[in-house]
Amino acid sequence: MLDICVLGDDVLRTECKDIKVFDSALKMLADAMLETLKEADGVGLAGPQVGVPEKIFVVWIPEEDPLVFINPEIVETSIETCPYEEGCLSVPGMYHNVVRPKRVKVQAFDADGKPFTLDADGLLARVIQHENDHLHGKLYIDYLTDAEREKLLRLYEKKNKARKNRKRRV
Ligand SMILES: [Zn+2]
Repeated sequence: MLDICVLGDDVLRTECKDIKVFDSALKMLADAMLETLKEADGVGLAGPQVGVPEKIFVVWIPEEDPLVFINPEIVETSIETCPYEEGCLSVPGMYHNVVRPKRVKVQAFDADGKPFTLDADGLLARVIQHENDHLHGKLYIDYLTDAEREKLLRLYEKKNKARKNRKRRV
């Protein structure tokens, strides 16, 4: 299990670096990220969320095969958009509607360094866009209006404080 960085950690705002070496250490990182994702009950996890500012993210949608994306690039997005209530393991407990393109075409490498192209729709397209943003220091809360973001952050702080207090008591 890797530690998940949360809002306020600078690594989440970093432009990530390309991965140049496809070795066993990279495979281990991808596996550890997938395990962490499963444990955290999420559907996507990006490098900076585990303190690694490099272009890697993993996606694991229930009932489907886990996917590893290295040096991904979204090469096409549909004109058609749709709303979806997004959450993020780095902003635990919070959700907000975000409008994004409905479909994307993404090019990436797998953990063995093999290139692939994927046409994604539905939840997969959503997660790919959310995770890809992480590689460019972007969070879903950036899409909110100032008023929406302030409200969400106030609530987040409140919840977070309660969680910290709870921990102290134990
Ligand atoms: Zn996220």
